[in-house]
Amino acid sequence: MEWTNDMSGTLYIVATPIGNLGDISNRCRKTLESVDFIAAEDTRVTLKLLNHLDIKKPMVSYYEHNRAGSGQKIADRILAGENCALVTDAGTPAISDPGEDIVKLCRSLAIPVTAIPGPCAIIDALAISGMPTQRFTFEGFLSTNGKNRRQHLLELVGEKRTMVFYEAPHKLLKTLADMLSAFGNRELALCRELTKLHEEVRLTSLQEAVDYYTENPPRGEFVLVIRGCTEPEEEMNMEQALELVAQLRSDGSSLKDAVKRVSSEHGISKNDLYDAAVKSED
Ligand code: SAM
Repeated sequence: MEWTNDMSGTLYIVATPIGNLGDISNRCRKTLESVDFIAAEDTRVTLKLLNHLDIKKPMVSYYEHNRAGSGQKIADRILAGENCALVTDAGTPAISDPGEDIVKLCRSLAIPVTAIPGPCAIIDALAISGMPTQRFTFEGFLSTNGKNRRQHLLELVGEKRTMVFYEAPHKLLKTLADMLSAFGNRELALCRELTKLHEEVRLTSLQEAVDYYTENPPRGEFVLVIRGCTEPEEEMNMEQALELVAQLRSDGSSLKDAVKRVSSEHGISKNDLYDAAVKSED
């Protein structure tokens, strides 16, 4: 049985629309009305939502750069008996959004945490993508650091499950180009502006997407749903494995550890990889 603090209030993780105010649920509205205060990623964005709902409620800000201090203050208030709704600018808090840390903190203090479910761009995109949905992996945002981004993608070369990524429009083209060089010309669904007036799902290939967005600068919010690896020959080749070993080495791994990890994760012969890596380091 879960142990919770009887004297404390509750932290409600409240999902809000990702573009269509018609998606506000009854429970979302009632929870925002009933809590003592709201912790918001951007209080200006949440104020618009509250004005739409005709709700007046005290707000505190809880965002990426004040998580530690603000999170503790919020937890203290809940421990003293207040109820708090956590909301972010759009969608489900804690999913590529601030929230993960405060949930962890509240759990460690035996504060009850409960979800008021609703829109979440990953699930919405996956459901309408036309890609296999039975098994998928959510990869969030790729790093803005080119080397880390490529390493992340190389680690996914043999991934058989459908892969879902978030991406900002100004980084989309670079990300698609890096995906093309890591995965080859895979099929993908580019899900854009979900639930909004200009919602679009473009079923295409990585090469076509690179060509298209080179000519047409991307606008709006995107979720990328990429088909997993289907062919054995799509699995990581020796050149890609060596690149991954080199990246792990530059991050401080020993040659032996890097080879062991890449060979076990990507099904490449450990001896062949070791020999090739030794040669490439000579
Ligand atoms: N927590 C949110 C959720 O539950 O979906 C995600 C927040 S994350 C900071 C923002 C990213 O979600 C965007 O960069 C985009 O990749 C995706 N996203 C959010 N709204 C979207 C929409 N209406 N259409 C497509 N993608 C969206």
